[in-house]
Amino acid sequence: MDLPLTDAEEDMLARAVHFAETHVAPNAQDWEDERRQPIETLKAGSLAGFAGLEVPENLGGAGMRFRLKARVAEELARHCFAFSFSMINHMGLAGKIARDAPEEIQKRYLPEILAGEAIGCAALSEPNAGSDFAAITTSAKKVDGGWVINGEKAWITNAAHADLMFLYAQTDPAAGWRGVAGFLIDAREDGVSRVPPFQIMGGHAIGVGGFILKDHFVPDIRLMSVPGSGFKAAMASVNAARSYVATMCCGMTEAAIELAARHASNRAAFGGHIADFQGLRWQLADAQTDVEAARLLAYRAVLAVETGAEAELPAAHAKKFAGKMADQHLARCMQIMGAAGMRREYPLGRQIACARIANYVDGTTEIQNERIARALFNRKKGQEK
Ligand SMILES: Cc1cc2nc3c(=O)[nH]c(=O)nc-3n(C[C@H](O)[C@H](O)[C@H](O)COP(=O)(O)OP(=O)(O)OC[C@H]3O[C@@H](n4cnc5c(N)ncnc54)[C@H](O)[C@@H]3O)c2cc1C
Repeated sequence: MDLPLTDAEEDMLARAVHFAETHVAPNAQDWEDERRQPIETLKAGSLAGFAGLEVPENLGGAGMRFRLKARVAEELARHCFAFSFSMINHMGLAGKIARDAPEEIQKRYLPEILAGEAIGCAALSEPNAGSDFAAITTSAKKVDGGWVINGEKAWITNAAHADLMFLYAQTDPAAGWRGVAGFLIDAREDGVSRVPPFQIMGGHAIGVGGFILKDHFVPDIRLMSVPGSGFKAAMASVNAARSYVATMCCGMTEAAIELAARHASNRAAFGGHIADFQGLRWQLADAQTDVEAARLLAYRAVLAVETGAEAELPAAHAKKFAGKMADQHLARCMQIMGAAGMRREYPLGRQIACARIANYVDGTTEIQNERIARALFNRKKGQEK
């Protein structure tokens, strides 16, 4: 399975590959050493056209398909998963506004997002609600002309710099998931404060952090998913995210395999090179087979999302397999490189931390299994009838 691209999409992908090699690869370790999100590179990526990838041309974007977003994410992740995830989240808000917001909101916010002047994020998680998303307690109370939001969001990619967030809040705790609604929040307005970016074990380019909202007023026009549709909208967006996280795991794992293979071909030992040892060669061959399998699952999920087909299961299989594969094989590639694999000039340590991130974001590996098991047991139950 492949994801054929149009000529225009191929051109954009080539630009992304060039951008990744010139802006991301040479700087990614510095960002990590400085434990910072590279806002200047997010801006450069936006100006290069990536922020508007999915935004129609009449709204200032490139009007391209979801498959290209997934492929761009894969290429950026070869060099820095954390930056790729940050860029893709920023793009996500642009796409959402272009799809769902009224014209007035599009005109107000899209130009600054596409120029990288305002960075976007998606805020579902809270200090006390991660996997159990329906348990969020950030509240939205209806008032004249809008809503008043109170609560805290945590573990939000891009929170270090984001000005705009797609925020989910509970409008009626008694209604459970049916009370969840989605709002476009402008974090530059009163009642929104940023908490300091989180210090994590690696992947600081992701700019993860949080926001506190205190009596923040958001006008009706920025209610983008009405109560009743918010939860479903969030689940649809995580299916898309799971499919591109899977392509990103393929990109970063394959880059590590290529690096380890090059190293093994040059590293002399016992009168030959370590690549001569079949046990070692086969480890990389097995890793490559897993990348090929992960990519098939990932691209299948991407196509399901793009065509509007049922995507929950394909996305769950793809993300689970790819996340576990990245965890396992990045560590294996480091082992194959011996102590050299730990050195700063190689990306392996940095990307290993990102493989951990991949197993949390947009639903943990266990939550993917829950989705798969739920379908499996429902199916079995149905067959018994
Ligand atoms: C770097 C980073 C960036 C992130 N970016 C964003 C973002 O942009 N926006 C956003 O909203 N969130 C973001 N997240 C949060 C992410 O979505 C959550 O970490 C994830 O949903 C898991 O929630 P949790 O960490 O609170 O774990 P918990 O929900 O507390 O889970 C803890 C453990 O219990 C397991 N578990 C929970 N429920 C079940 C179950 N039913 N069955 C089996 N096992 C279960 C989990 O798999 C996990 O192993 C980010 C996280 C990280 C690390």
